[in-house]
Amino acid sequence: MRRVSIFGATGSVGQNTIDLIARDPGAYDVVALTGGRNVAQLAADARRLKADIAVTAFDDELDALRAALEGSGIAAAAGQAALCEAAARPADWVMSAIVGAAGLEPGLIALRQGATLALANKESLVCAGALVLETAKAHGGRLLPVDSEHSAVFQALVGEDMSAVERVIITASGGAFRDWPLDALKAATLAEASSHPNWDMGQRITIDSASMFNKALELIETKEYFGVRPDQIEVIVHPESLIHAMVGFNDGALMAHVGPPDMRHAIGYALHWPDRRALPVSRLDFAQIAQLNFRAPEDARYPALRLARLVMERGGLSGAVFNAAKERSLDAFIAGRIGFLDMAAIVEEVLARFEAKAGLIDAAMTLDNVRNTDHLARQWADDVMAVRAG
Ligand code: NDP
Repeated sequence: MRRVSIFGATGSVGQNTIDLIARDPGAYDVVALTGGRNVAQLAADARRLKADIAVTAFDDELDALRAALEGSGIAAAAGQAALCEAAARPADWVMSAIVGAAGLEPGLIALRQGATLALANKESLVCAGALVLETAKAHGGRLLPVDSEHSAVFQALVGEDMSAVERVIITASGGAFRDWPLDALKAATLAEASSHPNWDMGQRITIDSASMFNKALELIETKEYFGVRPDQIEVIVHPESLIHAMVGFNDGALMAHVGPPDMRHAIGYALHWPDRRALPVSRLDFAQIAQLNFRAPEDARYPALRLARLVMERGGLSGAVFNAAKERSLDAFIAGRIGFLDMAAIVEEVLARFEAKAGLIDAAMTLDNVRNTDHLARQWADDVMAVRAG
């Protein structure tokens, strides 16, 4: 039986992963499930999948988790140290689906055990791409992309030589505000930003889709994972979200990955790789679809894309700065403290502070440096917000 662990099991990607695993219960030995505040779901899934241990990231949720697991024989634990301990338990395949920079360390620990890490947590590659790739290489761990765009590129590259790749095109739905008048964006509300036209995802990534901070993270993730130059990576708005990515080769051919907007495809591909197995996703009917649309992303609507290009050029710890400032300003938008457009403006100011900070730009990419940079960038984001609030 394959030993599997799921980090972020209670979230959108985690639940889709559990959906696939629960369909074939005899095939998997579930080691660890981790979650955050949704301990009822965590405990229910741990019972259903007969996990060895369930871990909540938050100490104050431990009593509730213990109570929900009573009599099951499943161990319960809480806090960062417990998350890391669960990540160190031997597993063959691990889903990394914690949201945000918090997903980095458990993923690194799993890679150090030589596990195959299915990486939904794009922040890991954005904050610490070189560190994640080096850790996988040094310990015989394997990294498989789960973001639908990156899974699509990965699949388009099967059997291809990277030296023949001219360009990588990742698609974007355009998010909740793709058709809004530009002057209305300033007043966009949390509820409006939290509704995605095509995908059913967690709240944070849904808002990041409206601002295209999600696509910005994916640009950086593409550069890190596939080792392509920033000028080889393009973003195109494709409102139907049926083509997830395309790879262009030096003979002019484009390989497009087309499929329904259902994360279980990319998760299932990573779960069964290198095989393809039947997956419970709908099949496309092109006569029904009739047409596919594309348009260039407007700079004024999606400033996050320009900022991502700065980060790709800069490299090093700038990704950790970018992500931390983005997470902090997203927290503030969700809390109603800043407006929708303020998020990009704050991230830009934090990146400028980073540029001005001698020594930090070229610091080595160690886990400690990534953590410290993340911490500093969050403080800078708070400072910038305080100044802007007057
Ligand atoms: P969700 O918000 O739905 O779920 C996040 C998961 O992380 C939950 O299990 C949550 O627990 C847990 N969590 C929250 N905070 C912490 C913390 N501080 N420490 C440890 N665990 C925590 O996110 P998604 O599933 O949407 O996304 C997960 C990751 O996958 C993100 O990096 C996202 O960018 C990426 N991704 C998501 C896609 C999607 O379709 N949703 C597609 C491609 C990539 P709880 O809910 O119990 O509080």
